[in-house]
Amino acid sequence: MMNTKYIFVTGGVVSSLGKGIISASIGKLLLARGFKVTIQKFDPYINIDPGTLNPYEHGECYVTNDGMETDLDLGHYERFTGIRTSRNNSITTGRIYKTVIDRERHGDYLGKTIQVVPHITDEIKRRMLREEVDEELDFVITEVGGTIGDIESAPFMEAIRQLRWQLGRDAVCVHLTYVPYLKAAGELKTKPTQHSVKELQSMGIQPDILVLRTERHLDDSLRMKVASFCNVDLECVVQSEDMPSIYEVPVSMQRQGLDAAILRKIGIPVGETPAMKSWHDFLDKQREASREVHVALVGKYDLQDAYKSIRESLNLAGIYNNVKTKIHFLNSEEISEESVAKQLDGMAGLLICPGFGQRGIEGKIIAAEYGRTHNIPTFGICLGMQMMVIEFARNVLGYKDANSAEMRPTPHNVIDIMEEQKSITQMGGTMRLGAYDCQLAEGSRTWEAYGRKELIQERHRHRYEFNNQFQEEFEQKGMKCVGINPVANLVEIVEIPDLRWYIGTQFHPEYSSTVLHPHPLFMDFIKACIDGTTEA
Ligand code: GLN
Repeated sequence: MMNTKYIFVTGGVVSSLGKGIISASIGKLLLARGFKVTIQKFDPYINIDPGTLNPYEHGECYVTNDGMETDLDLGHYERFTGIRTSRNNSITTGRIYKTVIDRERHGDYLGKTIQVVPHITDEIKRRMLREEVDEELDFVITEVGGTIGDIESAPFMEAIRQLRWQLGRDAVCVHLTYVPYLKAAGELKTKPTQHSVKELQSMGIQPDILVLRTERHLDDSLRMKVASFCNVDLECVVQSEDMPSIYEVPVSMQRQGLDAAILRKIGIPVGETPAMKSWHDFLDKQREASREVHVALVGKYDLQDAYKSIRESLNLAGIYNNVKTKIHFLNSEEISEESVAKQLDGMAGLLICPGFGQRGIEGKIIAAEYGRTHNIPTFGICLGMQMMVIEFARNVLGYKDANSAEMRPTPHNVIDIMEEQKSITQMGGTMRLGAYDCQLAEGSRTWEAYGRKELIQERHRHRYEFNNQFQEEFEQKGMKCVGINPVANLVEIVEIPDLRWYIGTQFHPEYSSTVLHPHPLFMDFIKACIDGTTEA
């Protein structure tokens, strides 16, 4: 077993360069070489976790198996590598300060003045090194959120500087920058990259490897220019061009020798390039899929990142079913009884999204009704499932006032607050979070979809639940509770077996789809969507 090596990934010039994708790709490439790897994200904001952040601010909130609400980049890490992350893989400035301040209140610092350097930076270092985590790893990849030069990321940079000094060759710094193309001049510009590297150097960090994000191909002379101005080896300047799919990135990085460059820097024999056969098979399938299947995504955030894992799960399931999933976002606030037929025209299936609060729920209920009464494959996730249940209660059981206790207390709260949630006053990190067991009903569509498994584990993020008081009535009228938590007896899955595909899950299956293992429920859903469309 070799000493653990540390790879730091930082970004400069602008945000949204795809640091998460690059970190995930490095993880994938090292994993393919047989190394034990984890990827973690350090975010400079003060929130303890992104759980309370509006999706407009920060995109989707991703949930780990052990119930941490995290940055959506962890979703990329898991989808690319299949490695399961945990609460140790997502750290914010808020969490760092909270630990230090709690320790100070506890009296642990024995009269010292608590300062950013060394106390905050020491705590950052401890977490970067994963000192408290019991695991054997060859590589820890640490992605730092934000952009070089931000005031709030300065302590992270100082921690990286110190760790590089301390670890010597066991640490490598990968810096991602941007090379813009100026149309008027007809030229690619390296100046922003030079400035960004200078900024890093001014903090005492010399990057080992530069990844240049670009919309145009960079030739060798440009790479050479960057290498010489920034003090890095030519083979350590790689480019990240626009790709038809993010899943092409690891292959492009491998072709340019990014993983080999990292190994050389550390002093590990490079050896043969791994073939990554199943990854290439997946890419071939992706390139070949031409037939389209149209799925409506019924939600309230018209933002690519807000339902990231759901979108990716739909895409992946499409590819493995040899089709291209065309996702049509449909704002649930704009759905009405009058407009719904037109809005869902041509859709092979609909997915009703998770969410919180009143806004847009009536549109989700109308969509659920349309899916049910027109026998269109319909997949409800968390709030989406709850809306399917409410729709059924209103229109089939005849409880016109049926609602969730989250929205309005009525005698027919078919979705009710969970017992253990009643006394909770703190909002952050207190939902039912993370993976729980779920027992599947033999013979159900869901059970078939999961390959006839009796017991599954899926991740949760909710406060409200199906109200068991009404279970019998639902079942009698045709909506079955086919997934139950064996410990708490909570209903986790409902389905209407008489319809082609009408399934709602209280949990979030989208969090556990990966590139090499698309999620069985998404696979089955897309299959049902395809079965309902005639080949053009
Ligand atoms: N707001 C609902 C609840 O808390 C659903 C949450 C979700 O969709 N993630 O139960």
